[in-house]
Amino acid sequence: RVQLENQPAKSGTAGDRVKGHQIVVCVRKRPLRRKELTDRELDVVSVLSKDTLVVHEPRKHVNLVKFLENHSFRFDYVFNEDCSNATVYEFTARPLIKHIFDGGMATCFAYGQTGSGKTHTMGGKFPGSQQSSMDGIYGMAARDVFATLKTAPYNSRKLSVSCSFFEIYGTRVYDLLMPGKPQLRVLEDGNQQVQVVGLTQNPVKNTGDVLELLEMGNSVRTSGHTSANSKSSRSHAVFQIVLRSETKDQLYGKFSLIDLAGNERGADNSSADRVTRLEGSEINKSLLVLKECIRALGRQSSHLPFRGSKLTQVLRDSFIGGKKVKTCMIAMISPGLHSVEHTLNTLRYADRVKELSVESMAPKRNQDPNLESTSMPDIISQSSSQRP
Ligand code: ADP
Ligand code: MG
Repeated sequence: RVQLENQPAKSGTAGDRVKGHQIVVCVRKRPLRRKELTDRELDVVSVLSKDTLVVHEPRKHVNLVKFLENHSFRFDYVFNEDCSNATVYEFTARPLIKHIFDGGMATCFAYGQTGSGKTHTMGGKFPGSQQSSMDGIYGMAARDVFATLKTAPYNSRKLSVSCSFFEIYGTRVYDLLMPGKPQLRVLEDGNQQVQVVGLTQNPVKNTGDVLELLEMGNSVRTSGHTSANSKSSRSHAVFQIVLRSETKDQLYGKFSLIDLAGNERGADNSSADRVTRLEGSEINKSLLVLKECIRALGRQSSHLPFRGSKLTQVLRDSFIGGKKVKTCMIAMISPGLHSVEHTLNTLRYADRVKELSVESMAPKRNQDPNLESTSMPDIISQSSSQRP
């Protein structure tokens, strides 16, 4: 039994039940960027195997002798810098497609500091980016949703597909599929059902339709921003693929793909600007509450602090609603020495998320994604040509 914090459980309502929660936590290391290479930035992250990595942190002894402290971490998968988006997708989001077609709720988070590769991986694009929307997880997931829709037994289930794309900036929610990016209200009814009022749910018939929406949402997300990565890195972007049963006229399954705000705030919160500081603390709070919610789900706890942030409040129905829930978190890390503190923070966060998961939907596959990518030269060349 699961209930909202400080709320008595209502017996028998489908709205507050979790039917087991499964989570996969992975890490992706991006390559050093051209600028970092010319600056001779040191790569301090070694991926040792498909699930293990070591961070070499330079430290100083009291007598000022320098040494490297090695921090080793283990996750469901660790992707090295040669892995393409296609390989990452294969091991993270792709297994969740079948889950939504079986009537479940799935969520995939990209977590990490700004510049670590969240948007690159998910497929959010900003002006000047070389990527096409098809190269990211959003596009690949859409492609597979339509492919699955055509296969038995799902082709006979009369399922319709629609998409939503919105942004959470501070405590405000904005619709990315509406020109002008209007702010939307979030309402919670007596049964703790959360509704984002007026959110565009765009019907889609094929992958092309989804790519069009992505183009629009991505350009709306960054329009008016002088630096494409500045404001978008301070908001969470939520892209959702929703399956509805046409015969029963009800929700069938939902896949939420989330490009989280940069997690670096707080670690170096030196900004004198009050607005930036407030934004920073809101981001910290939302990421903290997200972690607590996932951990509580993992423990099958009866206290789920969803109300603690706008992000978790809005995502609540993806976790509680009487449907089976699967979650995947991809923690993105930058390999450079200058990011080592942020990298360790990211890995510790991911470690905490993973720690208490009761059931890992754990990789039944023994393949090594890092080897897999080397045996697929077409994908490798694709990913290396994307590098700046
Ligand atoms: P974030 O969204 O986490 O702030 P971005 O996705 O914008 O980070 O990535 C920052 C920069 O690094 C971009 O120029 C992006 O193209 C590049 N990049 C990120 N990950 C990779 C990768 N795996 N391979 C090649 N380039 C990458
Ligand atoms: Mg980004």
